[in-house]
Amino acid sequence: MAKIYLIDVTNRDGVQTSRICLSKLQKTMINIYLDEMGIFQSEFGFPTTSHELNYLNANLELVSKNAIKNLRLSGWVRAIKPDIEAAFKNVPKLKYLNLSISTSDQMIKHKFQGKLDYAGIIKSMTEAVKLAKKSGAQAIGVNAEDASRSRLEYLIEFVEAAKEAGADRFRYCDTLGFDTPFSIYDRISAVVEATNMPVEIHCHNDLGLVVANSISGAKAAFDNGVDSYINTCINGVGERAGNADLVSVILAIFYGSGMQKYKLDSKVNLKKAWKLSKYASYAFGIPIPINHPGVGANAFAHESGIHADGALKDRRNYELYNYEELGRGEPEIVDTGRNITVGEYSGIKGFRNVYERLAVKFKNDKEARKILELARYANVHNQKPLVEDELKFVANYPEIARKIFTMNP
Ligand SMILES: [Zn+2]
Repeated sequence: MAKIYLIDVTNRDGVQTSRICLSKLQKTMINIYLDEMGIFQSEFGFPTTSHELNYLNANLELVSKNAIKNLRLSGWVRAIKPDIEAAFKNVPKLKYLNLSISTSDQMIKHKFQGKLDYAGIIKSMTEAVKLAKKSGAQAIGVNAEDASRSRLEYLIEFVEAAKEAGADRFRYCDTLGFDTPFSIYDRISAVVEATNMPVEIHCHNDLGLVVANSISGAKAAFDNGVDSYINTCINGVGERAGNADLVSVILAIFYGSGMQKYKLDSKVNLKKAWKLSKYASYAFGIPIPINHPGVGANAFAHESGIHADGALKDRRNYELYNYEELGRGEPEIVDTGRNITVGEYSGIKGFRNVYERLAVKFKNDKEARKILELARYANVHNQKPLVEDELKFVANYPEIARKIFTMNP
């Protein structure tokens, strides 16, 4: 039976969003948390962008050390041969790739402006797919940018050519958030019926329909017998009005009316949602809206008489799912007395105190000094106080951390 998988694109679409920045350490922590949450794949960055390279290679090292266990790390490139060549030269252990090119009349006419025509697009894409395969890619997704505004016959021709060239799936990009749940269902059904190609669903929220469209697209794939891969971002960030929120998509598949037969990848563990969402909010510097599904402050709050009374009598009166399932409900301790924080100018004694509280032990003084010095760099790198997991990461993987902090402009 067909399944639904999740590909989180926070470390690609999320970070290319205006006003959203993540340090390479923060991107790394997000990959680690996504892995713990059982997410299928993280689009972890751009293998043709020089400041990404140490981070990308270091994260693939985390995979080989089994610090990232099941999560696939995939790169995003343009579907042109020079990008494929550069990607495998820069990141030799890369195994998963998405290749992107525009397929709509609008973009072919007004973006490429004569540089590429319809046949040229397909030629560039198929050559790129073949080269990626030859270079060692184990799974390739081909992205049709602006798929929702592309002519259906051309889209089908494009997907057929991608399949023939050796691509494993096709990414239906609703780049401008133009689709509705009805149109995306019909269009993905038509493409899958004609090509039998597994499909990634990449939606944007310009009309406020992003989660509904993503679910509807996955339903179309499932109903036509192929796997689907919904693209998500943590806390719904992403270009302009955002991508599909990771937690909302999971909740909709688990608890949506009539969704019981649509099976999500069984590894997904919603229990990590609270921690991941809060970490990302801190890293982005963007609060989680109080009405955010599942992880917002009001998601399980009741005040009015009838609702409070009803929720107290039986949670199912006014709650669709349990807060415990999202990893909520544990008391969180906030120190209100003396607090030794660490920063880029902290001294050794302060760091030692903080690491002792985390129960991190050092073999000897030399090792302690080395880790503490690296923790200083981590602070320079993040420009905000480190969270406990970041401090532990630096202590557990000092050489990888060193690589992540290194950029050579
Ligand atoms: Zn996008």
